[in-house]
Parts: sequence; C-alpha cells; structure tokens
Amino acid sequence: MIKLHDKFFKPFISAKQIDEAMARLAREIANDVGDEIPVFIGILNGSFMVVSDFVKKYPNPCEVTFIKLASYEGVKSTEDIQRLIGLTQDLTGRTVIILEDIIDTGNTLAEVHRIFKNENVKSLKIATLFYKPEAYKKDFKLHYVGIEIPNKFIVGYGLDYDGLGRNLPEVYQIKQTQHMTNLV
Ligand code: 5GP
Repeated sequence: MIKLHDKFFKPFISAKQIDEAMARLAREIANDVGDEIPVFIGILNGSFMVVSDFVKKYPNPCEVTFIKLASYEGVKSTEDIQRLIGLTQDLTGRTVIILEDIIDTGNTLAEVHRIFKNENVKSLKIATLFYKPEAYKKDFKLHYVGIEIPNKFIVGYGLDYDGLGRNLPEVYQIKQTQHMTNLV
C-alpha cells in the first residue's frame, strides 16, 4: 500500500503484466502496419512511459512525437479539455497511431479525433495501454487495447494523482473507504 497526498493506493497491475501487454501491443501493431513507417503520437503527460517502453519494443522503423491535451484535475474527469499543443509535423498521407496511457470517458479521444479530422492522414488508429469500458461514453473505435480495467482511479506508470505517482513502475488502484464515495 502507498500513500500519495491524502489517498491510499493498493498494488493493482505489476510491472511484468504491463511489460507483457506492451509487448503484445507492439507485435499486433507491427503486424498490421507492415512496411509503412508509422508516426506514433503520445498524448502528454500520462503517456510518456507508455510511449518510451512501446517504441523500444517496436521492431521496425517508426517516428515518434508528442502532443499535449488535458481533461483531468485531481481525480475528477471534466468536460473542459485544453487545446492542443505541439503538433508541428505534416502528417499528410501518414499512418498515424495515437498511443494513450488510459481511455476513461473518451473525452480526450473525441478531442484527438476533432483535431485530426483536418489532417490529411492515410489512417488514424488508437492504441491504449489501459481502458475502462464501464466509463467509456463514445463510439470511436479503439484499435489496440492493452488491459481492460474497472472504473476505479489508478496511478503509476505515467499516471498521476495530483502530480504524484507518475514514476512508479507498476500501477496502483485507489483504496476506497466508505467515506470516499465521491471517488471512482
Ligand atoms: P478521458 O478523457 O478518456 O476521460 O480520460 C483520459 C485522461 O484522463 C487520461 O489521459 C488521464 O490523463 C486521465 N485519467 C483517466 N482515468 C484515469 C485514472 O484512473 N487515473 C489517472 N491518474 N488518470 C486518469
């Protein structure tokens, strides 16, 4: 058990499980992409560890870049998504694969789709390490999913709770008490 700020978190997904899921994602994507040189785009901040570990497992030439959006403050998802920062590359005709740390409500993903609608990409695919099916409210296809998890707040492996926990190599789940019904 660990404590970050005022909350307790219990071990949930080990570094080994994460590693296996990442290896599977890299294999699946490499098989589908074939000879193309894909552009992998990480959504900061949460995806920095996913992207770093993923591209080391990706067996073929690829490009890597990051963009930044945000939909979370503390542990509550909000509809208030900041605008995009960092997409400077011309993606015309490219195979683009978004690498997400986690897909929860799908609000961030909706914003990503809105932004990429105007880019003339050859294809846009979505890969996420973690996915909360119970929380997902959109219809966008998720092409590659690492691990499905229940609708509870997690930290570690790039994911934070108010700035803490991103450096943890494994993932922890919030430990709920009867007094924490406002948290999921
Ligand atoms: P969505 O827009 O799909 O609701 O949420 C996506 C973003 O919310 C993620 O990129 C991440 O920053 C944040 N998020 C969603 N669920 C969690 C969670 O369980 N833990 C943490 N730390 N962040 C989350």
